[in-house]
Amino acid sequence: MWLKYAKYHSAQDDQIILSVPSTFYKDQIKQRYLDILIEKLSSFTGEKISIDFIIEKTKKTTSTYNTHQKTIKSTSDQYKEYAKRAGINIRYTFKNFVLGDNNRFAANASISISRNPGKTYNPCLIYGGVGLGKTHLLHAVGGEIIKCFPSMKVVYVTAENFTNEFISLIKENRVHHFKEKYRKTDALLIDDIHFLQKKKETQEELFHTFNVLFENKKQMVFTCDRPVTEIKDITERLQNRFTRGLTVDLQPPSTETAIAILRKKMVEYEARVSDEVLNLICQKITTNVRDIEAALIKIIAYTNLVNEKITIDLAKEILKDRFTRVNKKQILIQDIQIAVASYFNISTSDLKGKRKNRSVVLPRQIAMYIARELTDASMTDIGLEFGGRDHTTVIHACQRVENQKISDPSIETSIENLKIIIKEEK
Ligand code: ADP
Ligand code: MG
Repeated sequence: MWLKYAKYHSAQDDQIILSVPSTFYKDQIKQRYLDILIEKLSSFTGEKISIDFIIEKTKKTTSTYNTHQKTIKSTSDQYKEYAKRAGINIRYTFKNFVLGDNNRFAANASISISRNPGKTYNPCLIYGGVGLGKTHLLHAVGGEIIKCFPSMKVVYVTAENFTNEFISLIKENRVHHFKEKYRKTDALLIDDIHFLQKKKETQEELFHTFNVLFENKKQMVFTCDRPVTEIKDITERLQNRFTRGLTVDLQPPSTETAIAILRKKMVEYEARVSDEVLNLICQKITTNVRDIEAALIKIIAYTNLVNEKITIDLAKEILKDRFTRVNKKQILIQDIQIAVASYFNISTSDLKGKRKNRSVVLPRQIAMYIARELTDASMTDIGLEFGGRDHTTVIHACQRVENQKISDPSIETSIENLKIIIKEEK
């Protein structure tokens, strides 16, 4: 994927220059392949070879972009009409998506996809927790494709609506309408695919839709609130399709990026809030962009209502409930470890340690299981918190607990008690 667009440019002495389409490619190749490339080249020549890059926009990319279609303006009525038909919310654009280290890779991949649908990363899977910008990016991809390639058929749909539409058309005996719609898209954007868990028939239908579109080199982008391997009850072959192309993740923004996002939102809302207050919001609320934005909206609403300048103390007062609520929601893996260890009368180092007798193994597995239920942490994160174990160990632990709950009901009771204790402690 990355090397496809890297071309030999020139060489001098022991240095080879590669041309790449953008700094994004340069950075990715440097990060991922530079060592391997150098090693291989040096093994061919018997000398130490170094590699440098120059950025050259490839003619091919620009020509598909320009000659394929006349582009349309985002302010035109035609654009608005096409976007509406595709289910795209035109408020979510790349222009008002703030880049930070937490989302740069996902955003750049999305831009690249919309300039060359079906030709770069296909499918693309964007995953990350709630409120981190997945839906925003998906709409931005759709809007941009419509702008650049107005004749393409773009469809944005949530996995939930996809499912409902499918079920109701089956009932009406009109599945062919469904197939007609989805199998004839040029770009299919499906939001929140975790919703498909347990929906066997819809999964089956999507699997076939996928194959048709993939075969015809049509673009697909999916979003998910967790890594697909962590979606329960989804067929392996569909899981496998989702991750066949590029998978990128979104993380919570740094305070700096969060402030930049709020500045952008203020322009959108035509509001003014002091930097001091923006700082307060972003330092206190670190869960996700949606929560941060909601705090800003509350402040703006208050300002409009009372027409009063928002001081830092007033902001604290207005957001009091949010600060406590948002933080209260966050249960840490360490909280769970402490509660579980004391419940079973063992030490937290036993929980994280290597001992294998039943008196520590079961509590350890239960703690991992509860961490899975009460926190947003991924399997990998949980494994790390438990003495650097692998994520497969966590998956195994969760399955063991599920099975043992069935054979031994007292385990279920212990888990329920523990959950109450952990939540009350917060
Ligand atoms: P998700 O789909 O991941 O739950 P959304 O895409 O709905 O999250 O994002 C939640 C809110 O945060 C939206 O209003 C979105 O515009 C905003 N948002 C998230 N990330 C950014 C960003 N980098 N720049 C600007 N706004 C953002
Ligand atoms: Mg969303």
